[in-house]
Amino acid sequence: MTLDAAKLRREFPILDQLVNDEPLVYLDNAATTQKPQAVLDALTAYYQHDNANVHRGVHTLAERATHAYEGAREKVRRFINAKESAEVLFTRGTTTSLNWIAKSFGDAFVEAGDEIVISYMEHHSNIIPWQQLAARKQAKLVYIDVTADGFLDLEDARRKIGPKTKIVAIAHVSNVLGVINPVAELTQLAHENGGIMVIDGAQSTPHMPVDVQALDCDFYAFSGHKMCGPTGIGVLYGKRAWLDRMEPVEFGGEMIDFVNLYDSTWKELPWKFEAGTPNIAGGIALGAAIDYLTAIGMQTIHEYEQSLVDYALPKLLAIDGLTVYGPQDPAHHTGVIAFNLEGLHPHDVATALDMEGVAVRAGHHCAQPLLNYLKVPATARASFYFYNTKEDADRLVDAILATKEFFQHGPI
Ligand code: PLP
Repeated sequence: MTLDAAKLRREFPILDQLVNDEPLVYLDNAATTQKPQAVLDALTAYYQHDNANVHRGVHTLAERATHAYEGAREKVRRFINAKESAEVLFTRGTTTSLNWIAKSFGDAFVEAGDEIVISYMEHHSNIIPWQQLAARKQAKLVYIDVTADGFLDLEDARRKIGPKTKIVAIAHVSNVLGVINPVAELTQLAHENGGIMVIDGAQSTPHMPVDVQALDCDFYAFSGHKMCGPTGIGVLYGKRAWLDRMEPVEFGGEMIDFVNLYDSTWKELPWKFEAGTPNIAGGIALGAAIDYLTAIGMQTIHEYEQSLVDYALPKLLAIDGLTVYGPQDPAHHTGVIAFNLEGLHPHDVATALDMEGVAVRAGHHCAQPLLNYLKVPATARASFYFYNTKEDADRLVDAILATKEFFQHGPI
């Protein structure tokens, strides 16, 4: 099945605007994606018609809100093929999800001398919680290398994942190198050595089918706002076998069964982890985003985005003085394309592109260890989604060429 991006983008009201007198080309989707009208409508409809607190009310609005919120959890379950919706915890996003694992699983199961294996290409959200855990427990943080051509070094992974490994935590897709990591193989390696596998799915879940049972990972984390949903809502998938044995990270209302004066008992999964009034509107709107993505088809989205990369990457690589980080072969590069222009600071490049209406990001992309590893202080980054078109790729290339021209020869 193919995808009509030009038609779909009309369902995203924000994309229909001029920026600096030019039609907006939004290529900062790895940071956050835009929201279709269906998601905006779901948010408004909840507040206009159903707004009530979940789980604790018996009146009609409370029942409607609870039904919609728990219905969204079931949509997430289906979307990632979790065994049961009790394994789907709503969080604020990937960062919170990873922190919860590090705190809750880490406190329960990690001991002095254990090893936590991550890679040089991780986002800060998949580094710092493990640094903190390692410091708390006198465990050791171990980094898997990245190869010169931008892949996770599987040979090095085989050397570093061993009997001391308690946790392996790796991004499914790198938010800088755009590479898809072999997370199924890593999961197998982790399990063979008695460890668990945590997957940071922030850059994969929005762009490709994800099946947590097929991957056999123990935990999978992702954010709603990177997949057409609102900010402030995300997911932590965890196998029941672990979640049952883990303590909540936060305590308070909603997550308790009985509260005595000096101790309390927790609700069953998933609610024992969800203290306080949750982001009800966010959960419901994430459900609407999942409906929207599912109607297009995640495999269709993946294939369409690959076709954009097939088109854009060779054009970018052909620009004299432009370096693309990560694999140079489009077959191994997703729609996250980090680049630098020789002699120009990426912030200047991003500012110049913005003058042409092209929105890209510049900076360290919350991956300072990777940029140090690559020996670059910062990069520009264009990141595509299914509502981008080949014309958007052309506008990017033209704007980069105009930027080069401007900085070499001044305004024409
Ligand atoms: N992990 C990766 C690979 C990311 O790209 C991001 C966000 O850019 C995160 C984690 C953190 O996501 P959030 O800020 O939504 O918690």
